[in-house]
Amino acid sequence: MSVTTSTPADSSAAGTFAALGLDPALLKAVTELGFVKPTVIQADAIPPALAGRDVLAAAATGSGKTAAFLLPILHQLIDKPKGVTRALILAPTRELAAQITSDLNELAVHTKVSGAAIFGGVSMGPQEHALRTGVDVIVATPGRLLDHFRQPYAKLNGLEFLVLDEADRMLDMGFLPDIRRVLRQVPAVRQTLFFSATLPQPIMQLTRELLRDPVRINIERQSTPATGITQAIYPVPSELKSALFLKLLDGQMKEALVFTRTKHRANRLAEYLVRHGISAERIHGNRSQNQRTQALEGFKSGHYRVLVATDIAARGIDVAELGHVVNFDVPVVPEDYIHRIGRTGRAEATGEAYTFVSSEEEGDLKVIERVLGKRLPRVTLPDFDYAQKPSAALEVPLGERIAQIRARKADDRARSHAKTGGGRPGTARPASSSRASAPAGRAPGSGGGGGGGGRAPSRPGSSGGRPGPSRGGSFGPGRSGGGGGRGPR
Ligand code: AMP
Repeated sequence: MSVTTSTPADSSAAGTFAALGLDPALLKAVTELGFVKPTVIQADAIPPALAGRDVLAAAATGSGKTAAFLLPILHQLIDKPKGVTRALILAPTRELAAQITSDLNELAVHTKVSGAAIFGGVSMGPQEHALRTGVDVIVATPGRLLDHFRQPYAKLNGLEFLVLDEADRMLDMGFLPDIRRVLRQVPAVRQTLFFSATLPQPIMQLTRELLRDPVRINIERQSTPATGITQAIYPVPSELKSALFLKLLDGQMKEALVFTRTKHRANRLAEYLVRHGISAERIHGNRSQNQRTQALEGFKSGHYRVLVATDIAARGIDVAELGHVVNFDVPVVPEDYIHRIGRTGRAEATGEAYTFVSSEEEGDLKVIERVLGKRLPRVTLPDFDYAQKPSAALEVPLGERIAQIRARKADDRARSHAKTGGGRPGTARPASSSRASAPAGRAPGSGGGGGGGGRAPSRPGSSGGRPGPSRGGSFGPGRSGGGGGRGPR
């Protein structure tokens, strides 16, 4: 197994895209995109990938990893006959798949290579068409791709290139069984490019199964956020977080991507900001694909100053020149911290990542600092009143919420009891009767993004939301704060 070390991009003439030996059509696109020289991961990964080697790269988001795998694949596809899908790129979320497809279209603009995205939340028709016609490159989330594999038209026998992007996130989201199912459908002889921000043990195990004598890149830099990001911690009582955020927006923070722990908090924070005259939108698993796309586009175009997001929905968000990422809540898992703050400082630019920490979150912060190997600077805003009376809480406390739900249910029961003239409680519950008559196998296309086959009915990010870590259950203890864990994202 050969190892290339992570040296900064070569400063000699060799440190150009042209020197990598890429096709002129790709060089033209790269120049038009304003890429002057390859990023470190591109300089390291493109040559061995062009030579047909498997690649295992530890690459954080923002490193330029997408072009690092797209360019060598596009180069190798340029002269191939059309009509056969030769490359498959697997990504954990719709947003990331959409982003990769958009990067692909930009990089392939002067070639005949075509690509299509396959992910849930949108109609299967155009995706079926892409599969039937053998589009050159497919960028897919595993779940929706498997839905297609149930149909005879979906064949990837001619596949030559396989990419796993953000593999750690795919495992984290419980996609490992799906990935294995997808692998059964693709030829064993192929070139595989494996990208992951972090390389925990289960990932290394998977790489041993998937890769043949890979070139290993940046392995020693795993778990490090992209360089150029200034990180700061803002200790603040939980109930003053919204006010502190507003205060920062009054200052030098022009725009920000903000992460909250739950979709509920995302909604509340966005509402709070709008009430205070800040244009804001939110993006999370309960929003429809359309709403998510619109929110993201509006944020990218500058229409919204603030985009409030939960982790899963935020994967793949790529906003040029995003100056600020704010962790409104401390992420429970250190990798989430690295992924989140990687949203700023894209392509080795600079950015600021602020994390609001209440006293209850100090423990989670310590774990993050341990992984980062350093203590992050604490910042106190001199002109912010830390003793002020908080405005309304962002969230109804869990206990109160449960009490409200119980009261509502008791009400419903009393009403249905009255309607049925005092009959047995429960006989009037329509859900139970329809459940009884539903076919055992679950009808395909029945509400909720089904697809049968025993898989959890909706994938992460699909509008139905997942009831917690049902797909493979790989979320460790402590991830599921406040009922539902990853579900709300
Ligand atoms: P990625 O890590 O692939 O998500 O890329 C992060 C951002 O860097 C994207 O906005 C890319 O368009 C941009 N980018 C990729 N490669 C380069 C490059 N060589 N020079 C400048 N920007 C780049």
